[in-house]
Amino acid sequence: MNVIDLRSDTITKPTQAMRDAMANAVVGDDVYGEDKTVNQLQEMAAEITGKQAGLYVPSGTMGNLAAILAHCNRGDEIILGNQAHTYLNEAGGIAALGGVHSFAIPNQADGTLDLDNIIDAIRDSSDAHHPITRLITLENTHNGCGGVPLSEAYTQAVGELAKKHGLKVHLDGARLFNAAVALGVEPRALTEPLDSVTFCLSKALCAPVGSVICGSKEFIARAHRIRKQLGGGMRQAGIVAAAGIVALEQMVEQLAEDHRRAKELIIGLAKIPGILVDPEGQHTNMVYFELNPEVQISTETFVVELARRGLKIGEVGKRRFRLVTHHWFSDEDLATALQLIGEILSQK
Ligand SMILES: *Cc1c(COP(=O)(O)O)cnc(C)c1O
Repeated sequence: MNVIDLRSDTITKPTQAMRDAMANAVVGDDVYGEDKTVNQLQEMAAEITGKQAGLYVPSGTMGNLAAILAHCNRGDEIILGNQAHTYLNEAGGIAALGGVHSFAIPNQADGTLDLDNIIDAIRDSSDAHHPITRLITLENTHNGCGGVPLSEAYTQAVGELAKKHGLKVHLDGARLFNAAVALGVEPRALTEPLDSVTFCLSKALCAPVGSVICGSKEFIARAHRIRKQLGGGMRQAGIVAAAGIVALEQMVEQLAEDHRRAKELIIGLAKIPGILVDPEGQHTNMVYFELNPEVQISTETFVVELARRGLKIGEVGKRRFRLVTHHWFSDEDLATALQLIGEILSQK
């Protein structure tokens, strides 16, 4: 059975071009800085994000952790959204491993942090009772807010606000390229006003492993030491970095197709009786929907019945579901997915 998996874009397996590049990669010991393929990927990443340097890390989680620890001392505080991946889904690593305190403020529905809320959260550093505010983190696209992209103008505004208050800004750009493609801007437009960024190669871009942190030379030197402390120094990492280079060269443009299919998915879902969707709620490659309270099917049965028929979807709350489109989800799969969902609900 051909299984259609829409739980996440992290399930994407490497393309044939990636497998070929991995088989033929020139490698060396990256802990000595001698892996030419890793070095090439890091230089490409720095160029794309408009930064001086890049650092290859095993995961987005380690990328955010190493970046935040490179910006902050123990006891420092960061301002971030209460729906941020770093706040909710990174196992509290910045506190557990870095002694960094979080000041979570509400994410707006569009993924942003209200500028006045940010200003209100900045501590008075002359008061010994307070932790010292050091950093603001943003997320683009914003996963918890439905994959919404944060605009260039907003990015600039936060960059300016931070400078004015002597703070740094880190961007969790796990899906930076989805944001750039959706907004029709260069990725660097969404990173240049900020101090650092982490992006993932292993999500919709199809590489098997890896993320890159980018920032100033001095910042990356600090992050490099922290990566070593975290056990993230890898040896012949060029084998996997080779797929990352293909991801940046070949996979960015196709994200527009993922976004188109997500749009078609939401239009199709809206026509199925029993499903509640907000057609305005689709921005990039994520689609959320709910089951009408009158539909006589439990959340669990719905997911299990779909999986039995070959469609895997994400469950993100009571009667609330997430579909994430990606490279391995075709137009034919789109028609099948809608048909399967329609079939199950027509029996209820
Ligand atoms: C996936 C994700 C991460 C973490 O990346 P991993 O490679 O899974 O560790 C960080 N931030 C956001 C917004 C993500 O979606």
